Amino acid sequence: MKNGVVIIGAGHAGVQAAASLRELGYDQPVILLSDEPELPYHKPPLSKMFIKDAEGKAQPLRGEAFYAGSAIDFRPGVRIERIDVCRRSLEVAGGGVTNFDNLILATGSRPRTLALPGADLSGVLSLRSLADARLIRDLSAQSEDVVILGGGFIGLEIAATLRAGGRTVSVLEAADRLLGRAVGPMVAAHVRRRLEATGARILLGTTVASFEGKNGHVSAIITSSGERLPARMVVVGIGALPNVELAQAAGLTVGNGIHVDHQMRSSAQEILAIGDVASYHHWFTGSRVRLESVQNATDQARLAARTIMGQGDAFSAVPWFWSDIDDMKLQMVGLTAGGDSHVLLGSLPDNKFSIYHFAGQRLLGIESVNRPSDHILGRKMLAARFSPTPRMVIEGSNTSLNTAIADHLKQGRAGAVL
Ligand code: NAP
Repeated sequence: MKNGVVIIGAGHAGVQAAASLRELGYDQPVILLSDEPELPYHKPPLSKMFIKDAEGKAQPLRGEAFYAGSAIDFRPGVRIERIDVCRRSLEVAGGGVTNFDNLILATGSRPRTLALPGADLSGVLSLRSLADARLIRDLSAQSEDVVILGGGFIGLEIAATLRAGGRTVSVLEAADRLLGRAVGPMVAAHVRRRLEATGARILLGTTVASFEGKNGHVSAIITSSGERLPARMVVVGIGALPNVELAQAAGLTVGNGIHVDHQMRSSAQEILAIGDVASYHHWFTGSRVRLESVQNATDQARLAARTIMGQGDAFSAVPWFWSDIDDMKLQMVGLTAGGDSHVLLGSLPDNKFSIYHFAGQRLLGIESVNRPSDHILGRKMLAARFSPTPRMVIEGSNTSLNTAIADHLKQGRAGAVL
């Protein structure tokens, strides 16, 4: 019998890769390794519904029966110590060796930590796993004052959830605006205004200078501007680092992520990498990127399975992501950094608007707040490699843009570079 495919990491990417291999008819062993004890689960609810509901349960990505029914050998609580590329084998922590024909690294990313005295006090938490979310949920139930470090998605989703639950919440963001890595300044300012209107305090250009603790538990933080903020819980959401160490030690090419080609193959052909940990030349930007999103993880997982089956086309998925913060459904499609003109549709006061970002005449992407139809249209346009001009967006409607996409596709221009 062949050794089949071993997948390290059972997040959204790893589980999708296993499922896609079976959907494509792969008939050799598929082993899915997780260093967590539970069935793989959905991560997005952890910063929202899950921490607000004391009885809330994790949502499994697939039911238990799926793994046995699909002949996927799911092994929880397994840590891999070393990859031997030449022997195509893995050393398992605590003993044992697992061999593979193909290896998929879906090792994800981990929260960046603060190198400050006091950052190891109990009550200073970060969120990545279900275990982290349980700690945040349990402690927030007993905490009046919460400080959040970092005004990215993690920080703001948790801030909105805990504020809605009546906590006193302060968010410290080092940069001069929120969501600097995710959205443009107009959406960021809108999110800030609405969160502040809920009573959350947002301190921009501010970080933590030191922690105070009592009996080993955090009691307050001192901000970089010298203010003392009482805190029984501090959530650190200051970004994520890719888990590249196994790949690096195995001699694979690694930078900010494991370098992969357009079919998700690493510098060792039989080893692929997908999801948060993979760094690749994106067709959309023409440059190397590493994206941290569920969409990216699942699309790359599907492609990795096709690559192993010998059907690998070049990665061509449209990047999109979303966030729910208070009463704002944020949906982003494309990658909008570098835009030089912007078209606003809808109304900020109504909390329903979209911003179309252009570089010259090329549509880079759309950020939508409570305008899902614009987001869906944006995904269609970018998937069709169709770019409306700013004028078409200003003067047209979603119906006229849909017609323009259909005409573009009829002319067989689907693959044209924008
Ligand atoms: P993030 O989006 O990188 O945001 C972290 C923010 O913290 C950045 O604005 C960063 O500023 C700031 N920061 C860095 N050091 C700081 C400090 N010492 N004090 C105060 N602020 C500081 O990362 P995240 O929000 O932690 O999210 C982590 C991961 O979870 C990411 O992969 C994210 O995509 C994922 N996630 C996604 C969603 C979603 O898609 N809806 C939801 C939750 C989590 P600089 O940029 O200037 O460093």
